[in-house]
Amino acid sequence: MSKVFFVSSRADSRERNLTKYHRLLKNLDLSQVVDEGDLVAIKTSFGERGNFTYLRPQYIRVVVDEVLRLGGKPFLTDANTLYAGGRWNSRDHMITAIENGFGYEVTGAPIVIAGGLLGFDYRTVPVQGEHFGEAKVVPEALDADAIISVAHFKGHMICGFGGALKNLGMGFGARAGKQMMHSDVHPTVDTAKCDGCARCYKWCPEKAVSMVRPPEAEGHKIALIDDDACIGCGECVVTCFTDAIGISWEGDPAIVQQKMTEYAAAALHDKSEKFAAINFIIDVTPDCDCLGWSDNAIVPNIGIAASRDPVSIDSASLDLVNQARGIAESALETAGAASQDKFGAVHNGIDATAQLVHGEKIELGERAYELISLDKNDPGEA
Ligand code: SF4
Ligand code: SF4
Repeated sequence: MSKVFFVSSRADSRERNLTKYHRLLKNLDLSQVVDEGDLVAIKTSFGERGNFTYLRPQYIRVVVDEVLRLGGKPFLTDANTLYAGGRWNSRDHMITAIENGFGYEVTGAPIVIAGGLLGFDYRTVPVQGEHFGEAKVVPEALDADAIISVAHFKGHMICGFGGALKNLGMGFGARAGKQMMHSDVHPTVDTAKCDGCARCYKWCPEKAVSMVRPPEAEGHKIALIDDDACIGCGECVVTCFTDAIGISWEGDPAIVQQKMTEYAAAALHDKSEKFAAINFIIDVTPDCDCLGWSDNAIVPNIGIAASRDPVSIDSASLDLVNQARGIAESALETAGAASQDKFGAVHNGIDATAQLVHGEKIELGERAYELISLDKNDPGEA
């Protein structure tokens, strides 16, 4: 059973947040992960422009300082997104990261956007999964000597929640890999927003888009997607500048979660001893930081978890959220009882445990965990 260390977000003058955070890192013992001279990828998300609940860069600084103390060479990294937004190419991604506060002067580490300018750079890694025999992973994950996942634990519209597994799996997948993980989902065109520019028509690698003039329309043609020809790669979503193409999440979210977990295993395939994860279970919004807004949290702030096991840390984080009191003034809409499936409640009953079940199945980690509370006032203090 893997250990998951935990400090609550409660604080006062004797037990300051930073004091507790340092205690957490001391117990996590990154000296087992980081050797002198190691290039250490601190995998995080810089948040979308307009989102205000992404991980605070000051939290990253503490991890950076610890890696530097151990003689490692930390860098902050994330790959470009599949969809349009402020992080779909490395240039825009870097600007968004700096605007959101992740500059060197704040975090103490440089940013290396992974996967090349447009996200087409990757190397193929073998993985023993049910969906993939190999995965297309960004070189920055493979070339780093050690990986530390620093994730904001929150909801997600297709995975139920996003924690360490999503941070690693979706986050280290190259653009082509992200497409393969999303292949169960298909885009649809909002005809009212389509201005007929035909970018999606020109860009679609499968020629699944045609430009048609609807009988009732007097003006321009609009895009029409042939579902049978579409592979769900998402290229058209990125291409469209009017936001007319959205992803239909009618595919099985469990399959996407399983694929994402297999990508996490691929990213860590040679780093079982050179990996650690930290989950911040605070500002637990119903949706991901990839959105350009932040809704109210669905539970009160909970705390910070840390582990060497990416499945255990997410398993523990999910349990902590479900055991917490739900906030009525949130997407939950009613005060949720402890043990309520909070993410299922806000995402049409999505089973968010699919990623945990699959992670254990492919031997990436264990669902069972030993939660070790490091709060001074807790009898479980280590
Ligand atoms: S890229 Fe967007 S606006 Fe242009 S044709 Fe396609 S759906 Fe319409
Ligand atoms: S998702 Fe890919 S295959 Fe499908 S219509 Fe868009 S670009 Fe074409």
